[in-house]
Amino acid sequence: MNLNIGVIKGDGIGPEIVAEAMKVLDQVGKTYGHTCGYTQLLMGGASIDVHGVPLTDETVAAAKSCDAVLMGSIGGDAKTSPWYQLEPSRRPEAGLLRIRKELNLFANLRPAVLYDELKGACPLKEEITEGGFDMMIMRELTGGLYFGERRTVEEDGVMTAYDSLTYNENEIRRIAKRGFDIAMKRRRKVTSVDKANVLDSSRLWRKVVEEVAKGYPEVTLEHMLVDNCAMQLVKDPKQFDVILTENMFGDILSDEASMVTGSIGMLSSASLNETKFGLYEPSGGSAPDIAGKGIANPIATILSAAMMLRFSFDLDKEADAIEQAVERVLKEGYRTIDIMSEGKQQVNTEKMGDLIAGYIR
Ligand code: NAD
Repeated sequence: MNLNIGVIKGDGIGPEIVAEAMKVLDQVGKTYGHTCGYTQLLMGGASIDVHGVPLTDETVAAAKSCDAVLMGSIGGDAKTSPWYQLEPSRRPEAGLLRIRKELNLFANLRPAVLYDELKGACPLKEEITEGGFDMMIMRELTGGLYFGERRTVEEDGVMTAYDSLTYNENEIRRIAKRGFDIAMKRRRKVTSVDKANVLDSSRLWRKVVEEVAKGYPEVTLEHMLVDNCAMQLVKDPKQFDVILTENMFGDILSDEASMVTGSIGMLSSASLNETKFGLYEPSGGSAPDIAGKGIANPIATILSAAMMLRFSFDLDKEADAIEQAVERVLKEGYRTIDIMSEGKQQVNTEKMGDLIAGYIR
């Protein structure tokens, strides 16, 4: 298979961690007989330096012509970088917001995986985390409270603010379908999270999710109220496979879930649209404090590349191979500095990439 991949190396540690993910992808290509073709795309500070803007129309068009985009991270130190002297619409982050919109990326996927080897970094009690956990938070990204009408007015001498939480059935249906599709590739369980005891938008959410579930008889669906879900995530995270939820609930729950896994350098993510297209990136930022030192953890980006193989190219075996190689490297005790603990062997960014690529089978 020819994989037509757009690559946004970005700023800070972006180029360092993306280089390692490309190394692993190339090894997967060699082992499984695929060719990875890369189109380099400039975005964020790197684009400002060359074009004066964080994202050009040409880059948007080039990204659209790829099957998927792998990204490092963009942005710099807001206190010292000249990029932040520019008006907000010309700063690095504006490029990211625009590309998400241009590519209609409405579904955000954030896996929260606790590897048994890293459970020391987890703030939960050992009896809860024994054996690790592996869940996927699927958050609607382009609707709901953050995109609804809002206004602040004075009514009878009292300042009053309104934010509206709106979803139509089509928006719910498309994310629900994506959630069930993803569950079919995992342990076939969807927990749909809402606040249906109070909100109309949640009652419609629940109704549409139930309709969609009829098309996926192999998948078990359960509903959970968001307040209960927030508790269950720390009480019994092993119970979850795919958590499907709307924008604001997902914003909060995905941060909660990622905190219980330990290091930011391990957290991958994907944003998908209605086609197989996706933008894959680590959850962390450009880490200007460690950029250029060769010590960043490339695993989140490498795992994002695995997600890309699974969700944009349907190459499940190849994605498994990357995930298993990461597990093996951790099991053998290799660590970058952010996940280092006593008795383990510390390696730099490049060595971590070499080790993972070397264990692709
Ligand atoms: P950050 O995630 O870049 O860094 C927070 C801390 O985590 C730092 O100590 C950093 O060294 C560490 N860290 C992050 N990734 C790591 C990795 N792979 N390996 C080891 N350590 C890692 O967050 P920040 O400092 O708040 O933001 C820095 C810049 O990144 C800002 O310009 C911000 O806007 C940008 N940002 C970009 C994205 C994105 O591109 N999607 C996301 C978040 C932040």
